[in-house]
Amino acid sequence: MKETSPLGLYKFLPQTNCGECGSDTCMAFASRLIAREATIDECKPFFAEKTKKKYSKKLANLEETVAPEVSLVYVGTGDRQLKVGGEDVMFRHQMTFFNKCPFAYDVTDTMEEAALVERVKAIAEWKKFYIGNWEEVEMIAVRGVSGDPGKFAACVKKVQETTDKPLILCSFDPKVLKAGLEVAAEKRPLIYAANKDNWKEVAQLAFDYKVPVTLSSPFDLDGLKSLAMTFKEMGINDLVLDPGTAPNGEKLQASLQNSINLRRAAVDESQKDHNFPVMHLPINAWMTSDDPARAAYWESILTTAFAIRGSDIMIKHSIDPHSVMPDMHMRFNIYTDPRTPVQVKPGINEINKPDAKDSPIFVTTNFALTYYTVESDIASNDIAAYLLAVNTDGIGVQAAVAGGQLTPTKIKDALELAGINPEETNHKAIILPGMAAKFSGELEEMYGYKVKVLPGPADSGRIPGWMDANWPPKAK
Ligand code: SF4
Repeated sequence: MKETSPLGLYKFLPQTNCGECGSDTCMAFASRLIAREATIDECKPFFAEKTKKKYSKKLANLEETVAPEVSLVYVGTGDRQLKVGGEDVMFRHQMTFFNKCPFAYDVTDTMEEAALVERVKAIAEWKKFYIGNWEEVEMIAVRGVSGDPGKFAACVKKVQETTDKPLILCSFDPKVLKAGLEVAAEKRPLIYAANKDNWKEVAQLAFDYKVPVTLSSPFDLDGLKSLAMTFKEMGINDLVLDPGTAPNGEKLQASLQNSINLRRAAVDESQKDHNFPVMHLPINAWMTSDDPARAAYWESILTTAFAIRGSDIMIKHSIDPHSVMPDMHMRFNIYTDPRTPVQVKPGINEINKPDAKDSPIFVTTNFALTYYTVESDIASNDIAAYLLAVNTDGIGVQAAVAGGQLTPTKIKDALELAGINPEETNHKAIILPGMAAKFSGELEEMYGYKVKVLPGPADSGRIPGWMDANWPPKAK
């Protein structure tokens, strides 16, 4: 997006303040467009029969202005549709990254049917709850290893019968790709890949079946640009670039640099002839070792290395927890919006069916990382408790204490809002985070010294030991 101020977009809007987009004013709509909370098609006057001619020039200008620097490619359909690319910045801290890099895990057309179904299910059902979100695998890459179009088509069909995750159909043989497309084209898979040898046939397939296509030119950016320009001239614009993923050695360094160069060309230099999302293949780690544990470990390293250097989509292999979990956590953190701390809903939460009279009342902030850590430390140690998340705008305890977002007044108000009165409990106590211990005196004073305010541990991992030593509190 070339414009980051609402005023800059406002001039391209109809400026009627009609409210048909759901915003009260065109300026408010412009702000939502910049934040990507709205899309141009929500502004009805652009498309209404009566007015579309009048606003056609503005619409063209607006579309050009809001187009992301790295073009956006849609893969899959319906609820499962994925956005690939669509980024505007080189580094996350410059604004945010918008579309997390989908992970596609591979199956091959040489697998026995039972093993194929079992692996597809394992990939499709993988999920992990992390800081308030379910992290999942997004895609399946079906690799045509047999070279047999019939086998490939049967494999794609079986995968589609087992999961509705979007697919990448992988082969350099156009006949094999065509067989897969005959089965799956309606679901808009990504095809992998056109190269210098097969590009004419694969371009025809992408055109005929209206599917996005990957262009592959390993370690040759000029060749990749040339392919991209050729496809664009043919009117095929849903492109993904594969600049090569060397798993080790000097070529790994070149692969990383190529990835950076492609993002830089799209974002900093606005080179629109090849500003397409970039694919990497951490799966190539499996070429470096016969030891599955080592290969899976190295695959995870490659995933991280490319994710932080502009990768927009990846093909991977290991679904072992020690490989997938770090990748998912790393990706989650890279794709959270640095402008908005990850937050939970403020308020009181019950853990392990607490008793209103006897269970302890812990206080923390609504910064998601802190909240879920404390909640997990309490829940996993079978402690029945209340956990108050004070609204600190998603700021953690230490910073909120220093910045004034967490204060004794806010804690007391939040407890009252949640309907909790510590004076009515048998223990008559509140447990503060250790880093907010300095509030205990003031908070006790606010309760007229009828409530004991206990400084808890600074690290919630120590709550069980702290409970052994301090709970129930001695009567005041
Ligand atoms: Fe403005 Fe368009 Fe929204 Fe109407 S629908 S308020 S013209 S942005």
